[in-house]
Amino acid sequence: QKITIAIDGFSSTGKSTVAKQLAKHLGYIYVDSGAMYRAVTLYTMQNGWIDKDHFDVIALVTNLDKITISFKFNDQLGFAEVYLNGENVEKQIRTLEVSSYVSKVAAIPEVRYQLVKQQHQMGKDKGVVMDGRDIGTVVFPNAELKLFMTASAETRAQRRYDELINRGDQVNYEDVLKNVRERDYIDSNRENSPLTKAEDAIEIDNSNLTLEQQFEKILSLVKK
Ligand code: C5P
Repeated sequence: QKITIAIDGFSSTGKSTVAKQLAKHLGYIYVDSGAMYRAVTLYTMQNGWIDKDHFDVIALVTNLDKITISFKFNDQLGFAEVYLNGENVEKQIRTLEVSSYVSKVAAIPEVRYQLVKQQHQMGKDKGVVMDGRDIGTVVFPNAELKLFMTASAETRAQRRYDELINRGDQVNYEDVLKNVRERDYIDSNRENSPLTKAEDAIEIDNSNLTLEQQFEKILSLVKK
């Protein structure tokens, strides 16, 4: 019997790492909902509708129907990469620049409406692990297993910093920490689907857990 697994939490809590592991282990599909918000953000940046000083919300909202987001499984990587209007943007959406705008784009109700609709569709057959901010509260309120991941902002910033440095981006730790805190704030305080723990979600603080410990713990919850 396949189930739906919803994994929510703050930025860089390692949601996607554990979601990918779980999906692989269970033979489920993994959907990175944050990648969808990031792809919409990239499109907004490419069209010059957002920068440090302005955000043309109307231009974005009236052009939403021109944005097609899809996922394609990459056998070598072992997970699905995100495509924006047919182009693989998996790498481009992970920059600190995209991270600095994504929470503003994700706060627009029309953007959320479109993406949530698509997420429903992707998860309609169960056997899905989806991670994000509102999966257990809005997208799949009936998910059989809901996890809420937390870790200190410093731990999360360090992880994200290591990731960015590893892929060759030039960033400094203070900027990454600032971005993590900013996104925490915007994601938790927006009017539409703010990030909150679903009542029936199980909270996992992984600040002091190794990946193996975390995985074993979560797997035991799946089996229950
Ligand atoms: O998960 P990730 O950090 O890549 O998500 C990027 C941003 O997308 C989040 O900071 C949040 O603003 C937005 N997001 C969201 N709802 C989701 C997933 C992501 O608002 N379900």
